[in-house]
Amino acid sequence: MSNTSRRRFIAGAVCPECGALDKIAVDLDSDQRLCVACGFSEARPVAPSISEVQTRVSRASARRVETAAEPVRLVDPKATD
Ligand SMILES: [Zn+2]
Repeated sequence: MSNTSRRRFIAGAVCPECGALDKIAVDLDSDQRLCVACGFSEARPVAPSISEVQTRVSRASARRVETAAEPVRLVDPKATD
């Protein structure tokens, strides 16, 4: 092992520059994402998974309000007069 930089490939990642699949690696020393197919590189985004979780939670609560249970009342037509 004499590699100067340590890289970890991201399974299923698509390069935003050339569109190549499984060519994106993360440089463990600099935390940069880089594409081994075209040489594209960018700084690692800040914790994308956290905002994803918050979105799911807010959606779930919104759905709960939408589908709030209400008692169904049967109206007797004779009682309206
Ligand atoms: Zn690329």
